[in-house]
Amino acid sequence: MHTKSQIEMLLASAGVEPNKKLGQNFLIDLNLMRLLIDDANISKDDLVLEVGCGTGSLTQALAERAGQVIAVEIDQMLAQIAEGELAGAGNVKIFNTDILENKNTISRTIIDAIESARKKLSGRFLLVSNLPYSIASPLMMNLITGAIVADAMYVTVQKEVAERMTAVPGDRHYGTLSIHMAATGEVKTERLLKPTVFWPQPQINSAMISFVNNAEKRSRIKSMDLLGDVVNLFMQHRRKMVQACVKFAADELAGINNWPEIFQKCNIDPHNRPEQLKPEDFIAVSNLCREILDNG
Ligand code: SAM
Repeated sequence: MHTKSQIEMLLASAGVEPNKKLGQNFLIDLNLMRLLIDDANISKDDLVLEVGCGTGSLTQALAERAGQVIAVEIDQMLAQIAEGELAGAGNVKIFNTDILENKNTISRTIIDAIESARKKLSGRFLLVSNLPYSIASPLMMNLITGAIVADAMYVTVQKEVAERMTAVPGDRHYGTLSIHMAATGEVKTERLLKPTVFWPQPQINSAMISFVNNAEKRSRIKSMDLLGDVVNLFMQHRRKMVQACVKFAADELAGINNWPEIFQKCNIDPHNRPEQLKPEDFIAVSNLCREILDNG
């Protein structure tokens, strides 16, 4: 783990300064870093993905506990520093790349690395990171709904993003992220963080959150893609009545023409607003739509 002065020194010797655009706010409160690691309860059977490894401060601590660590860093200079700092760790692979190929896809190189490492380890696949805030939501959505699903995630995010993740029906923060997280697992704000625990200090407050995937909940969802389409269809018009949203149905959902019956079967009052629907309601609607579409 690196103290503030160690990080300053590593950056100064490389002749660089923290890049604001890349969200380079290093976690310098090492007690909090230890708490993040303790939350994750990592074992030698586990594979850990760290996104935005910076100078390799958290990476070192993860390597001591995990079977394998895949660390990703977009900044070439920082990736080089982390390589140097972790030269002795045989179970760490550092990738100098953008974790996201585009908003909806994790880099193919990283997916391949995760898939190959998973074959050698019997434990969980975890995301443990002090995330670059600009990509926290799309990255976590990907690890819930995408090609590769995380068993659990322990991360630092912007406080507002934590509020969106943990929001319940009726909250003003309730949305796509909260619905998908509640539909597939358990999400919790572990602790709030002041700007002073980072260097340089961000202008916003932060939070450490945990998300644990729940296989039983996940098995209730017939099609993750269609659930996403249904959530988008309704939540894009969160304050309209649900019966008024269906005229915007596109793609596969445009093939559904018996919405009143669907609402009735799912016990949804068509006058309700989407922001009042529970995650289970969205699952019920998407499952029924799946059945209707599959049966012609
Ligand atoms: N892990 C370090 C720590 O806690 O001290 C640094 C965390 S800092 C909040 C986020 C890091 O993510 C930065 O080093 C930044 O360069 C990197 N980063 C930003 N966008 C990225 C992306 N799209 N893919 C991979 N890394 C990224």
